[in-house]
Amino acid sequence: MNHEAVDSTLSAMKENARLNHVPIMEDEGMAQLLQLLEQQKPVRILEIGSAIGYSAMRMAIGLPEAVIDTVERDEKRYEDAVQFIRQAGMEDRIRIFHADALEFDTESLSGSYDAIFIDAAKGQYERFFEKYEKLIDSGGTIYCDNMHLNGSIEIPIEQVPKRNRTMVRNLRKFRANMLEHPAYHTVLHDTGDGLMVCTKK
Ligand code: SAH
Ligand code: MG
Repeated sequence: MNHEAVDSTLSAMKENARLNHVPIMEDEGMAQLLQLLEQQKPVRILEIGSAIGYSAMRMAIGLPEAVIDTVERDEKRYEDAVQFIRQAGMEDRIRIFHADALEFDTESLSGSYDAIFIDAAKGQYERFFEKYEKLIDSGGTIYCDNMHLNGSIEIPIEQVPKRNRTMVRNLRKFRANMLEHPAYHTVLHDTGDGLMVCTKK
């Protein structure tokens, strides 16, 4: 890994995210995710929602043994991610797929994962979970970002703008389901925008 190329790429990614309003993980949540991953030591990681590849790259840097598969449906973001991954010289560590994760044929992925990071459409987490949890073996972990939705997960639903209510309701339901899921041990961290950690029993 060429540290100079990686550092300059990360800076360019943060600038791209700022200019184009790409919701990449903020520093605090990223640090918490990396800390948990360093404890878990996953080798194969799947990410749903790459955006421009920022969190995938941070995971690849923080976990030198890991390889990351990541899925993004937006064409422009996917193309930016491809560029950034190449610029950092990390093509051998990060494999990016241009697809809607809900329609994606999981046969193109080679087998199971130790960790899955869900960070795509917030109203669809339950559906991502249902589709991809099959790829996690016992002892593996699913990490879910933005479980606080900028605070809107806790306030009375009438105070949430109408256009966001379905998303908020879906995310609340998903969180409640996971906290009671018999096959998963689930912990909610308040760091960043709320990180939910679900470990398969
Ligand atoms: N993980 C990234 C940020 C992801 S932002 C980081 O922290 O660096 C969420 C991304 O999920 C957006 O780019 C959006 O286009 C993508 N997304 C939303 N729904 C999706 C779906 N069904 N399949 C694939 N990507 C999706
Ligand atoms: Mg996020």
